Amino acid sequence: MTGPGRILVVGASAAGLTTVEALRRKGYTGAIDVLGDEVHAPYDRPPLSKQVLAGAWEPQRAALRTAEVIANLDADFVLGDAASSLDVAARTVRTTSGRELSADVVVLATGVRARALPGQEGIAGVYTLRGLDDAVALKADLRPGSRLVVVGEGVLGSEIAATARTLGLDVTLTGPLAAPMALQVGPMVSELLADLHREHGVRLRLGSGVAGLLSEDGRVTGVRLSSGEILPSDVVVVAIGATPATQWLDDSGLTLDNGVVCDARCRAADGIYAVGDVARFHHESYNRLMRLENRTNATEQAAAVAAVILGEDRAYAPVPYFWTDQFEAKLQVHGLLPADAETEVVEGDVAGRRFVVRYTSGGAVTGILGWNMPKQTRMRRQEVVDSITASVSVP
Ligand SMILES: Cc1cc2nc3c(=O)[nH]c(=O)nc-3n(C[C@H](O)[C@H](O)[C@H](O)COP(=O)(O)OP(=O)(O)OC[C@H]3O[C@@H](n4cnc5c(N)ncnc54)[C@H](O)[C@@H]3O)c2cc1C
Repeated sequence: MTGPGRILVVGASAAGLTTVEALRRKGYTGAIDVLGDEVHAPYDRPPLSKQVLAGAWEPQRAALRTAEVIANLDADFVLGDAASSLDVAARTVRTTSGRELSADVVVLATGVRARALPGQEGIAGVYTLRGLDDAVALKADLRPGSRLVVVGEGVLGSEIAATARTLGLDVTLTGPLAAPMALQVGPMVSELLADLHREHGVRLRLGSGVAGLLSEDGRVTGVRLSSGEILPSDVVVVAIGATPATQWLDDSGLTLDNGVVCDARCRAADGIYAVGDVARFHHESYNRLMRLENRTNATEQAAAVAAVILGEDRAYAPVPYFWTDQFEAKLQVHGLLPADAETEVVEGDVAGRRFVVRYTSGGAVTGILGWNMPKQTRMRRQEVVDSITASVSVP
């Protein structure tokens, strides 16, 4: 299959790489350029807060593919250079080093950037965790017995707290919500996560925002909460979410609103597509714009976009999925878990720490969450599919 004459992928990570792989798998033989601002060959991010931070993996093990597999893709990888602007009509990307790359089709796969606290820049001992270099630098500063404060009780903050605790640090997890991951999994499961963290010795200081960081001689010494309490610290990790990496697109004329806004086929403009964390696409089944920050979406959306580029006319309408590992708990989530959903344990039991929870809202199953029950959780995913299908078929 020939397809477009030349394809340019901007962003050389999970979504970018898997777009290239999907194009080749589907028989595209034309030219592909991949532009990435990091110097590293594509690597995976989920292990950064788990195996790499824990020291169980050498950082290079996070590589997504071997050099040989990448070479066999027959794509031109330009790494260590950032896209600085996009001319949509000419489908030309300019880079900070002055390169100009033109193509018939441009795929935007620039992901997200970690959000920072005001004033954190320049204070030693304060980290965000998004990339491999962040993980290596943070790991080097995590010494047993040191006091670590993790700011942000979302998925990433909760994972980092768990990993650091297993490394023997004195860990405090703080954030405005009542329990870890309350926004992502709702009150019932987040309370169980709070128990899990407490049992493992993580101190929870939740329900209060952060007012600022304290430092002495350029090194962090503490975190001041809006309640006035000060959490003394040797190291601080700021895990307060991420923003789509779209700044370089500000003058492009594309619609940017919490990501690159695109249609159900992930098309942002004629010949321009978005994939992965940066893409805010119209989900036809939920009938709304959706941006998914998870690893499975990066792969699934890349495959969908590759198919559309090569002429398939199919909307991308996935059942959202993410997982997280904290201490001995492995959670899998299919679908959506609204905070006000009703929850019911449908497999296993909470006391035994192996169970599946069904989330329903207005009588419809919105999501399934499994805690150390991956097989049963996967089997119950169909309930979410059936529920979405039923709601779509209602006029
Ligand atoms: C520490 C960590 C742990 C995670 N754990 C999980 C997990 O357990 N489960 C799960 O489902 N998901 C997890 N995720 C989320 C998952 O890794 C992401 O959803 C996934 O990486 C998204 O892939 P992406 O390619 O869209 O974006 P990214 O991986 O962010 O890649 C975007 C790439 O584009 C580059 N880029 C940005 N701007 C430019 C530019 N102007 N020019 C050129 N290149 C640019 C970036 O530097 C980056 O290399 C985790 C993420 C992190 C950071």
